[in-house]
Amino acid sequence: MSVNGTKYDYLIVGAGVYGSVCAHELTKRGKTCLVIDKRDVIGGNCYTENVNGIHVHKYGAHIFHTNDKKLWDYVNQFAEFKQYTHNVIANYKGKMFTLPFNMWTFNQIWGVNTPEDAKEFIESQKFRGNVNNLEQQAISMVGVDIYEKLIKGYTEKQWNKPCSELPPSIIKRLPVRFSWDSNYFNDKFVGMPVGGYTQIFEKMLEGSDVELGVDYFDNKEYYDSIAEQVIYTGPIDKFFGYEHGQLEYRSLRWETVTKSEDNFQGVPVMNYTDSQTPYTRILEHKWFDTKTKKELSLVLNTLTIMMVQMNHTIQLETKRIQKFTNSITI
Ligand SMILES: Cc1cc2nc3c(=O)[nH]c(=O)nc-3n(C[C@H](O)[C@H](O)[C@H](O)COP(=O)(O)OP(=O)(O)OC[C@H]3O[C@@H](n4cnc5c(N)ncnc54)[C@H](O)[C@@H]3O)c2cc1C
Repeated sequence: MSVNGTKYDYLIVGAGVYGSVCAHELTKRGKTCLVIDKRDVIGGNCYTENVNGIHVHKYGAHIFHTNDKKLWDYVNQFAEFKQYTHNVIANYKGKMFTLPFNMWTFNQIWGVNTPEDAKEFIESQKFRGNVNNLEQQAISMVGVDIYEKLIKGYTEKQWNKPCSELPPSIIKRLPVRFSWDSNYFNDKFVGMPVGGYTQIFEKMLEGSDVELGVDYFDNKEYYDSIAEQVIYTGPIDKFFGYEHGQLEYRSLRWETVTKSEDNFQGVPVMNYTDSQTPYTRILEHKWFDTKTKKELSLVLNTLTIMMVQMNHTIQLETKRIQKFTNSITI
């Protein structure tokens, strides 16, 4: 019972990182919390599910990375983290390229071996006018060839808009390295929790009441009445009843395939960068894991095919993905 007679001090809507950290910190300070989530699981986007011994990142690949030692120490109290190096491969019409853009990528695209030669290629192809959109920004950073093969199709699938209509800011933070370093993250601390992410949320939510599979908006009046304060971590436009219209969210759709083959692509994340392939990435979750190669080869493999939800083409995409999944021998 809260100080003012309601059942809880806090109602927390959402059992993801934000909600769970709030619940943990408030409980530690003697507050009572009810955490609700419309999903049947805790962890929000970071939820991992144990499938045949592999920790499947059900809502997309999550790599913990930070430059903040305090944050790193904080998360390490809930799980043991193993150092992890994230390497991503881009698949453009069956040809493989290393991401983020580095000497390996320049070598694969142009056959160059030195930073000087790579810079010369970029200089010769670079956009030189005033940058007003993502296309111009990308071409001014890496030239036309890389833009056409590795950026255009992928970005347009992600955003469902031509690159010429997207803001340059989206691509500005993309690293371009003139070294042979293909490690995706530059952060001081990059890790993967041994045993998956879900255990972290289980520990954070200890001491709070948790209700899963319930939507706050289905019973808002009731939930508001049982707590002194509400912490809401869901979509902000919905919270305000779309008072200012709907935000342009992009949602993702995943198709999961289980395979007995022990190594499908040899890398956790492969990006499909052409515009024809109807998905953006395939995740092979076992490569996120911290097990030994021998242990990994003994378990069934789980792949996730990640697609951006484009409402008007979803029927077509579903058919194409069906064709793809059928073509994989299970
Ligand atoms: C594909 C993908 C990959 C990512 N990869 C990384 C990465 O590698 N590293 C990284 O640091 N970050 C990554 N992120 C970002 C990371 O997922 C978010 O920053 C983080 O999950 C945000 O946590 P949150 O608690 O704010 O939101 P969420 O994790 O979205 O949690 C919000 C919760 O609220 C619930 N909810 C919403 N509305 C309601 C309602 N009406 N009633 C009840 N419950 C509700 C939802 O079900 C959800 O569980 C990635 C994100 C995506 C989508």
